[in-house]
Amino acid sequence: MAKCNKCEQKAVYSNQGLVLCKEHFLDYFETKIEKTIKKYNLFSPSDQVCIAASGGKDSLAALYTTMQFCKEHSISFFALAIDEGIGGYRDHTLDDLRNFCQAYEIPLHIVSFKEQYGATLDQIRDKALATLNKKPCTVCGIFRRTSLNRTARALGATKLVTGHNLDDEAQSLLMNQLLGNMSHNASLGPITGLSANDKFVPRVKPLYFILEKETRLFAFLKKFKVEFNECPNINLSFRMQVRDQLNEMENKLPGAKHGMVNAFLEILPLLKKHYQEKKTEFSYCLECGDACSGKVCNACRLEEELELKD
Ligand code: SF4
Ligand SMILES: [Zn+2]
Ligand SMILES: [Zn+2]
Repeated sequence: MAKCNKCEQKAVYSNQGLVLCKEHFLDYFETKIEKTIKKYNLFSPSDQVCIAASGGKDSLAALYTTMQFCKEHSISFFALAIDEGIGGYRDHTLDDLRNFCQAYEIPLHIVSFKEQYGATLDQIRDKALATLNKKPCTVCGIFRRTSLNRTARALGATKLVTGHNLDDEAQSLLMNQLLGNMSHNASLGPITGLSANDKFVPRVKPLYFILEKETRLFAFLKKFKVEFNECPNINLSFRMQVRDQLNEMENKLPGAKHGMVNAFLEILPLLKKHYQEKKTEFSYCLECGDACSGKVCNACRLEEELELKD
């Protein structure tokens, strides 16, 4: 068994020549997140931080490390979970989340698709696929983003933390590229929405430079109780195909994901400038008042299409 680069202990982690024991890996992980928070100014002392959590390993790692940072810097924070209504999956992760928040005394709010849109994801997924040709993850993504933003705003949050990691970002980049949605890439990065609109709570990603496998190891070493099983709908998503391809690429070319995201960060300011110049003025949704680019926001349009509105 290999030994840690920094001490004599046995290694638990190895990546591109960096070999670390448990203690040094945990230190490396937490330091990397702290550096990201500081480099990109993700938080200010007056922030009210809302941490989006689901009970999965990424969200618990984001919740734990953000909590540590906020406590050390006297920044107020709370957790927010969305219950999409995915039987046999979300109910379990929410149980884990409740236990976690109780153990660390973190205030937790939970809102559901059922109460916000009148139906669970399980109830609408077949209809969305059959009548709108929309996959469950598309529906879930639109409703989830909207619920997070609306609820975080209603609870007075000034920042919304998500558990997105380096793998998620690399996947999004590649998906947008393959689908020709370059403008969507302009709204990626460690912090987004700072100057967008007062209806939009800026989103920050402290785990931006953390690999998925590092999050997994962190959750394991910290003995977080998490279900490692996946959402049953993931098999239908384009993201899963891209994820598998990227993992294959990373195996052949270690560091590929970092390379991709770092190269993207170099051109991100140009992308933002380009699309900001082209952007039409924000308008407000005629149905709910949220910021949107047309007359009605994506969530209200989807509610209409799925005949969820009464
Ligand atoms: S895999 Fe798709 S349906 Fe499941 S929680 Fe994620 S976005 Fe929602
Ligand atoms: Zn060590
Ligand atoms: Zn709306």
